[in-house]
Amino acid sequence: MESAWSLIKCICGHNFGIKKGNKIRCFRCSNNNDYKIIKNFSSSIDLRIAVATANAPEEINHIINNKLKGSEAKKYNLNINEVVNMSKYQVMMKNATSNDGVLKLDKLVSILNNNFIEDVLAEDLIAKSEFEGLIIRSAHNEWSWL
Ligand SMILES: [Zn+2]
Repeated sequence: MESAWSLIKCICGHNFGIKKGNKIRCFRCSNNNDYKIIKNFSSSIDLRIAVATANAPEEINHIINNKLKGSEAKKYNLNINEVVNMSKYQVMMKNATSNDGVLKLDKLVSILNNNFIEDVLAEDLIAKSEFEGLIIRSAHNEWSWL
């Protein structure tokens, strides 16, 4: 399969994904010269998981690794749950996005409410996605997908 997506590591330490052929520019420091292509992917989903993992703070990696020492079965469950959660929330964020590509906070809040999700805040989902370089703030309580 063709590898159309790349995981990029900027000199500032930020990891982000791009579609091949697109301009490479770090979302955190705006640098576009000093970067490394870490890995290529054929699917944007694999790329997003790799970006999220690469940007996970050391502390979280440490906690996850300690949890994983419990048993191999647990490790499998944890990974699957993380992937399922990620796509579920990402679908909701896409649903909260208007036809012109604008993600609105109040819309995401009401979608979470409609799905009876009380343990995850819309603000946290947005902050996480901003950190992962998936979205960028375009106006007050509005974001655009990158
Ligand atoms: Zn950077």
